[in-house]
Amino acid sequence: MNLILFGPPAAGKGTQAKKLVAERGYIQLSTGDMLRAARSSGTPLGKKVAGIMDSGGLVSDEIVIALIEEQLDRNPKAAGFIFDGFPRTMPQAQALDAALAKRNKKVDAVIRMKVDEKALLARVTKRFEAEGRADDNPESFKKRLAAYNSQTAPLVPFYAGQGKLKEIDGMASMDQVAASIARVLDGAAKGAGKGAPRPRKAARAPARAAAKATTKLASKTSAKTARKSASRAAAAKARKR
Ligand code: ADP
Repeated sequence: MNLILFGPPAAGKGTQAKKLVAERGYIQLSTGDMLRAARSSGTPLGKKVAGIMDSGGLVSDEIVIALIEEQLDRNPKAAGFIFDGFPRTMPQAQALDAALAKRNKKVDAVIRMKVDEKALLARVTKRFEAEGRADDNPESFKKRLAAYNSQTAPLVPFYAGQGKLKEIDGMASMDQVAASIARVLDGAAKGAGKGAPRPRKAARAPARAAAKATTKLASKTSAKTARKSASRAAAAKARKR
């Protein structure tokens, strides 16, 4: 089961992803966490992205796609992946589909956590005080929200079109949000376990029609045979006379 946790910054994706890791053994792939780790260990990549991250802008597609592909290859036997904070742009979404297809995998569900933008600012201010994340200051946060609305929100119709989008209320309590996610995942797993879906009535109709036609044909044939043997008997009678 591979799922995308989707929603604006500070919607609670990371918190829910960590719960799923603990409960289901999935692997969390958070591009934000990966970039922050590169940054705090001072790698060349970390130095390159630090300024962009602090200002609330998006790191290039090329960089984050490479990070994700590397993790997919490192965990070939994973029970599932939770993509958190990725994909954030249409090219990233397309690259993810291609990267998974290359490895015989796919995105199974996209869970959109719907939240109230005004409430997010309050959450982030609290997080800024508690964790001191540089990009949680109000100015950067506004830029992150703007980036989400212009570049990430268009992925909603993309995944809805693939029939994978599930929406849940992200403003409920942490446990209620976790319960909604669990319901979606268990529903998706059940659906997958059922095997091929039963064809609908319309699709079954031709099969029924074919069966009827065979029966008709059989009765027509037997009527013909009966007629033939009756006339043969009549001919034999006439010959006898
Ligand atoms: P949030 O908590 O706001 O959802 P993240 O922890 O996911 O943020 O990401 C923090 C920052 O890292 C982003 O503002 C952005 O600069 C960078 N980043 C993370 N993921 C991506 C991505 N998929 N594409 C581009 N930039 C990203």
